[in-house]
Amino acid sequence: MSQSESNGKPKVAFFDFTSCEGCQLNKLNFENELLDILELVDIVEFREAMDDKAEEYDIAFIEGSISTPTCIERIYDIRRRAKVLVALGQCAVSGGINAMKNAMPMEEVQETVYGNDKYLFPSIPAMPVSAVVKVDYEVRGCPMSPPEYLHVLKSLILGRKPEIKDYAVCVECKLKENECVLEKGMFCLGPITRAGCDAICPSNGQYCTGCRGPVSNINKNGAVEMLKRYGFSTEEALKRMKMFNTNELEKEIKWGKE
Ligand code: SF4
Ligand code: SF4
Ligand code: SF4
Repeated sequence: MSQSESNGKPKVAFFDFTSCEGCQLNKLNFENELLDILELVDIVEFREAMDDKAEEYDIAFIEGSISTPTCIERIYDIRRRAKVLVALGQCAVSGGINAMKNAMPMEEVQETVYGNDKYLFPSIPAMPVSAVVKVDYEVRGCPMSPPEYLHVLKSLILGRKPEIKDYAVCVECKLKENECVLEKGMFCLGPITRAGCDAICPSNGQYCTGCRGPVSNINKNGAVEMLKRYGFSTEEALKRMKMFNTNELEKEIKWGKE
């Protein structure tokens, strides 16, 4: 990557849109690596930590979904200034939890949240950042996976293309030799969810709730068969997957009737 900064360090900026800001906070959790990273980059915008502003960025990390007309104006402006733009976390990648509102009439949603003041807060269906501007890379998850985020950041600093995994969580889970939670009667979305989190939930005795979204080539027949084998229906799988992935389900997964 050619750096725009005279000190040779890439200018990195963080922006939050409609989100809980959990992904930005999550990256503060790896203190050891953070100090090393601060040596390698020049953080020029980060609302949660500083007041400074910059005209351009080598890498812009975007957290949150696009859910208001103002969001659209802001993301166009950031894209125009950024050489590389990375969507950080499932809200930015797919609309995330915010997109659950898309299944309801927008006016009803606004009224529930803002009551009589609803006209003061214009709202549009929650969209991924990629629905409005070009996204170069994605770091999935709710919250995003810190190791994957580090991998993407380090790769970009070194001028390499980050490797983004596109196979099921089950693969990572099996490699860790976890006992499958399906065997314990739990539901698990690992077979259809995109890896990259190191199967953190099943590795800790929990089921996967699909927070990283579906793999791009789901083995639908295999998934349906597996679910049936353990007494679960595809309807249930879709219902659970919707929590984080309403938009992606509408777009990508067409399940056959059982
Ligand atoms: S992806 Fe999850 S943790 Fe990250 S901002 Fe959205 S809701 Fe919060
Ligand atoms: S626990 Fe979940 S992720 Fe792990 S192997 Fe079983 S179904 Fe797959
Ligand atoms: S195991 Fe599933 S729910 Fe847990 S972090 Fe990974 S993708 Fe998300």
